[in-house]
Amino acid sequence: MLDKELIYVKGVGPQRAEVLKEELGIVTRGQLLAHYPFRYIDRSEITHVRDIPAEETWVQLSGTIVNMREAGTGRAKRLTATFRDETGDLELVWFKGIPWIRDSIKLLSPCIIYGKTNIFKGRLSMPHPEIEPLEHSRLLAGNTLRPVYSSTEKLARKGLNSNGIAKLTRQVAEECRSFITETLNEELLRRFRLMPRSEAIIQLHLPSAMEELEKARRRMKFEELFFIQVQLGRQKLAQTKEERGVIFEKVGELFHDFYSQHLPFELTGAQKRVVKEIRADVARGYHMNRLIQGDVGSGKTVVAVLAALLAMDNNYQACLMVPTEILAQQHFESISGLLARMPIQVALLTGSTPRPARREILEALKQGDRMLIIGTHALIEPSVQFHNLGLVIIDEQHRFGVMQRAALWQKAAVPPHILVMTATPIPRTLAMTLYGDLDISVIDELPPGRKPISTMWRSDARRLEVFGFIEEEIRKGRQVYVVYPLIEESEAMDYKDLQDGFEALSRRFPLPAYRISVVHGRMKSEDRQVEMEHFSKGRTQIMVATTVIEVGVNVPNASVMVIESAERFGLSQLHQLRGRVGRGAEQSYCILMTGNKVSAEARTRLETMCRTNDGFEIAEVDLQLRGPGDIAGVQQSGAMNLKLADLAKDQQILLAAREAALALLDSDPHLTHPHNAPIARYLIELSKARGDWSRIS
Ligand code: ADP
Ligand code: MG
Repeated sequence: MLDKELIYVKGVGPQRAEVLKEELGIVTRGQLLAHYPFRYIDRSEITHVRDIPAEETWVQLSGTIVNMREAGTGRAKRLTATFRDETGDLELVWFKGIPWIRDSIKLLSPCIIYGKTNIFKGRLSMPHPEIEPLEHSRLLAGNTLRPVYSSTEKLARKGLNSNGIAKLTRQVAEECRSFITETLNEELLRRFRLMPRSEAIIQLHLPSAMEELEKARRRMKFEELFFIQVQLGRQKLAQTKEERGVIFEKVGELFHDFYSQHLPFELTGAQKRVVKEIRADVARGYHMNRLIQGDVGSGKTVVAVLAALLAMDNNYQACLMVPTEILAQQHFESISGLLARMPIQVALLTGSTPRPARREILEALKQGDRMLIIGTHALIEPSVQFHNLGLVIIDEQHRFGVMQRAALWQKAAVPPHILVMTATPIPRTLAMTLYGDLDISVIDELPPGRKPISTMWRSDARRLEVFGFIEEEIRKGRQVYVVYPLIEESEAMDYKDLQDGFEALSRRFPLPAYRISVVHGRMKSEDRQVEMEHFSKGRTQIMVATTVIEVGVNVPNASVMVIESAERFGLSQLHQLRGRVGRGAEQSYCILMTGNKVSAEARTRLETMCRTNDGFEIAEVDLQLRGPGDIAGVQQSGAMNLKLADLAKDQQILLAAREAALALLDSDPHLTHPHNAPIARYLIELSKARGDWSRIS
């Protein structure tokens, strides 16, 4: 029944069927029922004209239309009318269908109008309201919740605007009610007090009351999240229990010697815990797929180095892949330093590695020398052949796509262990959904002795004061970053901002007492490198830059980060930038500069930055502000085609769904038990519908 095509439904016909297919991809009855309303209008609420909010909103009013008039000619022609209730007047306006509207309006007869208000040059009006004579109003019939469906202009022209779709869906829902099958088992329904599926779907389209609708939505959200978790769980099972991995049997001399003799500091508790987790993973004989989340400066590098030593102790090669050349260079230098007295080779391979050196490295890799190779995308090229690649470490994970990771994966006969490191913490619930098939380690402790960065928000009007502060810090021997936003669409303008800023700084901090470096995306990469080097060697005191410095740069003597037009940055970017300072022993500062006018959302971002240094807390605020769709890495994920659930708001449901999914796979990993049959059946349906997800997440 649900698979039957809509074309056979009364009132559809070939034309409407065609446009439904074209515009919404809907062919069958089942698909129509899966086109959920995106909103409900509570038509029990009547607003008075006097109380209409001063922003554009949907409102319903009760009153009369007292006059109407036509104005303009040709394309500018419009019909306006005055709507009045006991508290005031509101202008209604139509640009289309004027003759028909004019004839259908009954002046001075009580009616209900509904629509979205519009504010133009401070004047409030309501374009194209729905008008219903009071005596016909659904209000009187008691059914006050109306579903709103997304539609398109093409659909609307065929009578399938939101109301048209509602009517059709109502009819199909009634016909199909008894054919909607359950996808969960009895136990889940009982334990989580979930509405049966058929009832829930009917409620979504024909809500009887707000309370019932909420129950229906909860049930369907649970289902959505539950099946994602079951799929991720099965993927993980396949990778760990069923996919053989390289085994690092022993913790050998390299690891031990380094740990006991060359490690320049004691590991933090969090670092120790994560190293232990990695050791357990790589020894089990299953394939490791682990994500390490840790704030900037939490000490991820040394954890990666220890993992690489484990690989080499077992005669495997390791590679560390990073997103930029500068970062590769810095990692190479610091890791070479750490491993200077170890009998292993550390090599750097990037796009600008000279040919002879490159040839030598490739030869050594092929020969199977014990080697940790650090590099950029250049590592993925086919010419790079490993003899025995056992561990792939990826830093700043979200900048690499799935394909690139897959390419590395294929460089070994047995898939190498994968360690992904990110300094962009992801809220726990989001990580569960995005990376539910990865194991997650968290380094939630900074090395001792760090002073929290003190963050301030200053308006442009206080720039002189900020300059004074910069001067003081430079006098103490410190260095300062001044960062400008760079947004691609307005690159020319942003570049001008940076130029102007540079000139203002040069006037205030003139040669020869002061030296300023400039780094931006329009420079050649060699020039950029030279400037960076001047700054990192302390030859310049101020670094004026665009966000190219966001990732990785390490200059411990820099103690001030000034972020210009800070209102234009997202939270995670602000946090990343701030992480460039606070790397030495000195007190560090982050100064967020903005104009006087700042939107409410930007204000929340700035206040959050001033309140906390905790990347996880910041990530959580970011998720609440922007929703999951805008968070880095989310969009590429197949897990994100959520229809109802909202990863920011439905965390409770997600936690329940995840727990239920894990328990299910624990007790019945292959879903062969008869009472799990509905679940197994629906999984097959889902995988048919969306295709298999990538093997690597
Ligand atoms: P991130 O997590 O941002 O990659 P890094 O690995 O670059 O952090 O470490 C930041 C700095 O902290 C480095 O200079 C590193 O040597 C130092 N560091 C790391 N772990 C410790 C520790 N346990 N104790 C003291 N310093 C540490
Ligand atoms: Mg790092």
